[in-house]
Amino acid sequence: MSLSCPACTKELTSHKDDVIDLEIDSCFFCHGLWFDRNELRRFFTAPKLYNKFRLPNHNFKVKIKDAPEQRLCARCEQTALVPVKLSQVEVDECPSCKGIWLDSGEISRLIDLYEEGKLKGKSETAKQIKKGHFDKGPIGQVSKTVALAFKMLF
Ligand SMILES: [Zn+2]
Ligand SMILES: [Zn+2]
Repeated sequence: MSLSCPACTKELTSHKDDVIDLEIDSCFFCHGLWFDRNELRRFFTAPKLYNKFRLPNHNFKVKIKDAPEQRLCARCEQTALVPVKLSQVEVDECPSCKGIWLDSGEISRLIDLYEEGKLKGKSETAKQIKKGHFDKGPIGQVSKTVALAFKMLF
């Protein structure tokens, strides 16, 4: 079953990363990205997808024609997405399936915010970006061990 773009209702295209067997969906027309439950977290450890969509040339602003009055979940279809504000970036989350919709360029802006220490809040998006970064980590397993040691200390 193909998914529909929450922002412009066109059909989404799926992209596979066989390194960790992850498949995410993007809109060819408005360049937004759809992440099913926990896929945003896994995106950070999927080198092919990360390198493809993190690139600045995916950051151009796209004017969306025929935008629906309400953005609906790509997966649940009838569920309205809930806008969530993270600093200057407004993302859309599905309260039912925990899917996340990011408009064109938002993934890069969110990663920048995280790296600048400005990604706050307990939203699903913020949580998954933090966890994803942690999984990816500059030193992978070592950083996990260090974090565990810290948890035991406090
Ligand atoms: Zn679209
Ligand atoms: Zn949903």
